[in-house]
Amino acid sequence: MAKLILKADKEKSLLRRHPWVFSGAVERVEGNPDSGATVQVRSRDGQFLGWAAYSPQSRIIARVWTFDERSRVDADFFRRRLSDAVAVRARMLEPGANEGVRLVHAESDGLPGIVIDRYAGMLVLQLSSAGAYQWRDTLVEQLSELFPQHAIFERSDSDVLTLEGLAPSVGLRHGSWSGTPIEFDENGLRFNADPQHGHKTGFYLDQRDNRALARSLAKARETLDCFCYSGGFTTALLAGGAASVLAIDSSSEGLRAAQAHVERNGLPPAQFLEADVFQALRKLRDQGRQFDLIVLDPPKFAPTAALAERAARGYKDINLYAFKLLRKGGALLTFSCSGGISPDLFQKIVAGAALDAGVQAHIVRRLGAPPDHPTALNFPEGDYLKGLLIST
Ligand code: SAH
Repeated sequence: MAKLILKADKEKSLLRRHPWVFSGAVERVEGNPDSGATVQVRSRDGQFLGWAAYSPQSRIIARVWTFDERSRVDADFFRRRLSDAVAVRARMLEPGANEGVRLVHAESDGLPGIVIDRYAGMLVLQLSSAGAYQWRDTLVEQLSELFPQHAIFERSDSDVLTLEGLAPSVGLRHGSWSGTPIEFDENGLRFNADPQHGHKTGFYLDQRDNRALARSLAKARETLDCFCYSGGFTTALLAGGAASVLAIDSSSEGLRAAQAHVERNGLPPAQFLEADVFQALRKLRDQGRQFDLIVLDPPKFAPTAALAERAARGYKDINLYAFKLLRKGGALLTFSCSGGISPDLFQKIVAGAALDAGVQAHIVRRLGAPPDHPTALNFPEGDYLKGLLIST
């Protein structure tokens, strides 16, 4: 069995059970492991630290599967981890309320590089590390046993694959599928996920609870949904009885899907605007428009901490304009899904925006991802989605 031997004093984070080994911490590799193979990680003085998947091309050179020396990383290991993850969801989520659920949230479920989302009868598997690629067939087989009536689609095409030196892998792996988007129920609303072409695995499941919150606040309000994509918030706002919804995105595909969601749910029409949000907000401000409720759910401006500074300007800008467009007594739902922006920094940026807009504002609630996107305490990076409900 190949070994990674760490440099002196580089074992601390692994002893705290953080699952990543950075290439700079490794003194030498013993043996000649293939990409994705399971290797032993040991400290310089020989202490066992974990069984990990080897990613020779990545700066994260290994990801730990287990910290238990007696454990074996084999088919049974994955069977246990998968059924544990599924069981946690069964305990934490109201049964039957939602057909769109994240079943496996990578590191946070002890399965680095592996995301599995379920949309009604379709499971979407998204792999993003050499170790995860190694176990593809095992995962598909076990998922088909756990969910016998389901089709399985693989959607491994995220940007991080290039860092791992892996080629994208996309296609149906089990069962049958006509290729049309999968319709699923979320809190009584019907949504479509397109596992092949949609963002992520087809839909933003991580905003489920926040869509429900937006819906509960919408009654008779004039609302604005910025970065609406396929209209998750737009649909929720209309279902909550909003007086109007203006929904903005730069993607015509996103807007078409949003329009279809509104119609599918038999809701009154929204107004859709294909535009750059930064420019559109300025224009609305120049026109003197005002709203009672604004949603800002932008894309990841800062995928890594290195890009945080430029991203911070982007967040500040949109929040500043949102404050200017908000009526007194209004509500702002503002989000960041950037791993490189901490909750603390995000709050500071929003505070700076309120200050510059001359608005006195309060945090009413702190928001995040729902219980099917848990954050393991030993993996704080899992806590990527942060949001604030602000009232003015
Ligand atoms: N709120 C959505 C998810 C947003 S994803 C939901 O709940 O489903 C981010 C969206 O921002 C994408 O649809 C992308 O097309 C859009 N986008 C990115 N940059 C943009 C810009 N500068 N102006 C307008 N839309 C933008």
